[in-house]
Amino acid sequence: MSKPYADREVWFFTGSQDLYGEETLRQVAEQSQEVARLLDASADVPATVVWKPVLKDSDSIRRAMLDANSDDRVLGVITWMHTFSPAKMWIHGLSVLDKPLLHLHTQANVELPWDSIDFDFMNLNQAAHGDREYAYIASRMGVTRTTVSGHVSNPAVARRVGTWVRASAGRAATQSLRLARFGDNMRNVAVTEGDKTEAEVRFGVSVNTWGVNDLVAAIAQVADSDVDLVVKEYEELYDVAPELRVGGERHESLRYAAKQEVALETLLSSLGARAFTTNFEDLGDLRQLPGIAVQRLMSKGYGFGAEGDWKTAVLVRAAKVMGEGLPGGASLMEDYTYDLTPGDELILGAHMLEICPSLTTSTPRVEIHPLGIGGKEDPVRMVFDADPGVGVVVSLADMRERFRLTANVVDVVPPRASLPHLPVARAVWKPRPDFATSTEAWLTAGGAHHTVLSTAAGVEAFEIFADLSGTELLVIDESTTRRGFRDQVRWNQAYHRLAQGF
Ligand code: MN
Repeated sequence: MSKPYADREVWFFTGSQDLYGEETLRQVAEQSQEVARLLDASADVPATVVWKPVLKDSDSIRRAMLDANSDDRVLGVITWMHTFSPAKMWIHGLSVLDKPLLHLHTQANVELPWDSIDFDFMNLNQAAHGDREYAYIASRMGVTRTTVSGHVSNPAVARRVGTWVRASAGRAATQSLRLARFGDNMRNVAVTEGDKTEAEVRFGVSVNTWGVNDLVAAIAQVADSDVDLVVKEYEELYDVAPELRVGGERHESLRYAAKQEVALETLLSSLGARAFTTNFEDLGDLRQLPGIAVQRLMSKGYGFGAEGDWKTAVLVRAAKVMGEGLPGGASLMEDYTYDLTPGDELILGAHMLEICPSLTTSTPRVEIHPLGIGGKEDPVRMVFDADPGVGVVVSLADMRERFRLTANVVDVVPPRASLPHLPVARAVWKPRPDFATSTEAWLTAGGAHHTVLSTAAGVEAFEIFADLSGTELLVIDESTTRRGFRDQVRWNQAYHRLAQGF
């Protein structure tokens, strides 16, 4: 099975020093290659793990880090001090590293050879204190890193390393992300606004606006033969309503939707953009708000935010990359309406049209219905229920002097009934730890109404992603309490202001 990021690498650095002599250093090299090989062989580690020669002095450590920085294939570096590696020699290297860092705290052997252990063994297997020396200097220097402890043959260790690789890939994706907005923010809406310049500093994303009529012009360029192909794909992949099928009385609406899809994809790829936004208040000469076109582009990995919400589009793109190859999916989502049955409260999440079908393994229905807002022709959309399972909803808000991510771990559940009159795709979930604690915490945090719902990448990936981008993250999950959360919000204010310096 090929890895989801087969062309991306993680470099494995082993620390030691010259004091040990040739024989010990040969064993360090051999055993660290085996550790790297085991990680690389794990299906849970989604990039290629590349072992690098053992590092023994300050100059070679600095050079190794600079090489990692300059190689675009490298998602991040793993460090492990198999023996003792005096940590002053890591100062220059750690101070120049600008790739994600994972400190693997492991050992070559699982069990101690209790009957045969001698001082040669002790000399070779010193990570228990070698890694402490290294972690001291990393902590003293304030180096952001993820620490994972345990033997690499333990599946939990490989999984956590894999999650860090995924977060690093998400980080790399936002750093190179171009985002095209068609139209501006929806009038008067607060939370979808934000500092686009600061977003480029913080996340690397370049956010720019195109006129919606650039899209209208692109639609006019679409060839009928391309529309035919997309329509055929709709009919093969989805359960298309008879009135929309070839020969159906509203087939022309499906063709126009397909044209929007082709035009959007062509235009975005010519701009090098992997994320975009629309705004139903600014449709220009578009005949309908793109529905199925947006749903399809999200399922192809594009980030999307409605109503000019570029911040959620960034999150959707990051979630797409972090979740690559995992079961489940990621989509723009909006907390829409509630079932407040005491003790069994549910949140119904949906949007006007734009929910990504990666959230379902069922066959979406393709339907056409009126849209109350926008004043345009009826848009075609896919309708389905999101699969049950664990997910996380995450929002990104601009808190003026910093960005804040708010995440809630949720359990997606089947709807209580078949929702025959609801003409949009939806997800129904129970928020953890419970409805009241979750929503009170979310409102206390000022989390947005637009989110990404991810059922592939989990909350752990978003935690590391937040660390890597130096962004606040408030997590609401099974361990959240009202008092603890309120305190966390207050302490974070102080922490993030201090962390920015004066
Ligand atoms: Mn919305």
